[in-house]
Amino acid sequence: MKKRSYEHTKIQRQGKERDQYTCQICGSNERSEGHHIFDYVYGGAADKENIVTLCHDCHNKVHKGLIDLLKF
Ligand SMILES: [Zn+2]
Ligand SMILES: [Zn+2]
Repeated sequence: MKKRSYEHTKIQRQGKERDQYTCQICGSNERSEGHHIFDYVYGGAADKENIVTLCHDCHNKVHKGLIDLLKF
């Protein structure tokens, strides 16, 4: 489990570096967070291609279903 969380952190960082720590929805670079487009539990890959960088606000909206990521 330890290895997995290390990989997770690494992949999150790679995804954010690719997106230059910029929210892919609104373009903000404050409080950038990595979001898994497809979660592990639903068969999503542990891969940076599965990470999108979002600011804290947009991230919350995605999780509340207010923003549909697949439209981006
Ligand atoms: Zn945003
Ligand atoms: Zn998320």
